[in-house]
Amino acid sequence: MGDASGQQLEFEKFKNIVGDGLRDASKHHNGINPSDKSPLWDVPIATEADLNDAVKTAQNAFTSWSRTTWESRATALAHMRDELAKHREEMGKLLLLEAGKPIQFALGEVDASVHTLDFHTKQPTPTDEVLQEDADLKLTMRYVPLGVSGAICPWNFPLVLAMGKIAAALLTGNCMIVKPSPFTPYSTLKFIEMSQQFLPPGVLQGLNGDDKLGPWMTEHPGIEKISFTGSTATGKRVLMSSAKTLKRVTLELGGNSACIVCPDVDIQKVAPLVALGAFYNSSQICVASKRLYVHKDIYDEMQKALVGVIQSWKVGPTSESGLMLGPVQNEMQYKIVKTFFEDCAVNGYDFAMGGKMGDGSGFVIQPAIVDNPPHDSKIVKEEPFGPIVPMMPWSDEEELLTRVNDTRTGLGGSVYCADIDRANRIASQIEAGTVWINSFERPLAEAFFSGHKESGLGGELGKHGLFSYMNAQVIHLYKTDVAKSAKL
Ligand code: NAD
Repeated sequence: MGDASGQQLEFEKFKNIVGDGLRDASKHHNGINPSDKSPLWDVPIATEADLNDAVKTAQNAFTSWSRTTWESRATALAHMRDELAKHREEMGKLLLLEAGKPIQFALGEVDASVHTLDFHTKQPTPTDEVLQEDADLKLTMRYVPLGVSGAICPWNFPLVLAMGKIAAALLTGNCMIVKPSPFTPYSTLKFIEMSQQFLPPGVLQGLNGDDKLGPWMTEHPGIEKISFTGSTATGKRVLMSSAKTLKRVTLELGGNSACIVCPDVDIQKVAPLVALGAFYNSSQICVASKRLYVHKDIYDEMQKALVGVIQSWKVGPTSESGLMLGPVQNEMQYKIVKTFFEDCAVNGYDFAMGGKMGDGSGFVIQPAIVDNPPHDSKIVKEEPFGPIVPMMPWSDEEELLTRVNDTRTGLGGSVYCADIDRANRIASQIEAGTVWINSFERPLAEAFFSGHKESGLGGELGKHGLFSYMNAQVIHLYKTDVAKSAKL
């Protein structure tokens, strides 16, 4: 077990985890508390030498880790789950500070991370499949781990998105090097640190870095797989760079998901769900409803109900209690969201609510609904990743689906409808990896998660997600003379 295991956990000191212990660097940077722009703790910036050391240690560890039993790896994950649960409060506080989440949602992310580990502890060993067997030949298909995997993570759900990668990689016998977003390195590095006591050195390592670290990882010949979650633009760079060494690549990318509301719904019951789907985590969710399509017969009433729900929420800095929405996570994102408000203002689009960003003291943005902007407007076509959402009426199902599917991204979608046959018919025609019926968008550890079109490549989570961390291998076993059976 690693050196880091013997040390007392401190939630205000952060180091990289390389090889068999904690490692500092000559250069540091720090995250920013998005609620008030105050600097958070220093965190080391890994060098290329740090990455090379991490890859070498992971390669060494892989030789024995890949030969341990599935059950023993599941036991290690169970210890990690319990340790994380033990530190729920401290980890929730870290997520509040680094990601700007209201405390109940920060704790919710810790709980979801615990659940992700728990789900993986319960997954059965994939069984070998006999493809064919006769007197001469037995063909058996089995699955083997890939080697050293790299996880490159975003800032919107720093812990739980890393956890989906870590749990699947380790359970299937891989070693993993995790790069958190430089905006939100704290909870991820601390989780990796607290996990060392349950793992041989090099099985799970964590490196915070600057803009150079991601490209070093995607180019590194010792890394066999990259699991990337982030924007579509960066995902394409990751794929191109990984192609040089033909790494396995999983890409979980951006989305412009549609929420469809049918005319038969109970408006008062559905409005709070639609509001959550669009604005939860200040809309910084890849699968959030980024376009609301409400049937024309209930459009006005639904809009009124939605505005009522959202106006009842408290929105503000995380230093305040009773919050529903906190700030967006960083200045870059704040400025991106601003361009959407400006574009709506320049084009004279109506706002059903909101329209002004906030006072600028932190990155808090007051939620806004844009009323029926044109189909080709920026707010309909692009992903703001912030709390401004367009709402449009529909009347004809075919025409609606044409508009919904007129996007290069296809990550998620939701359908609210009392008539379940109609809901299923609409859902099955949405070109996206996941569609929710009568629920806001809520990924689960149990369900494979993937993007269609430019929303991703491959997928993760659920029992199927495990296969993205394994190579297939087929054993041809000849029981009799091969020359004879091949008629040589
Ligand atoms: P991002 O693409 O800017 O960064 C993601 C990660 O990639 C960060 O760790 C970053 O440091 C790293 N990176 C940047 N350039 C790189 C390069 N050239 N090579 C390798 N790594 C590099 O994304 P973000 O702003 O952190 O996250 C927001 C985006 O992520 C949104 O578009 C959102 O929809 C998407 N997202 C998708 C999912 C999903 O599961 N599909 C989940 C969450 C977020």
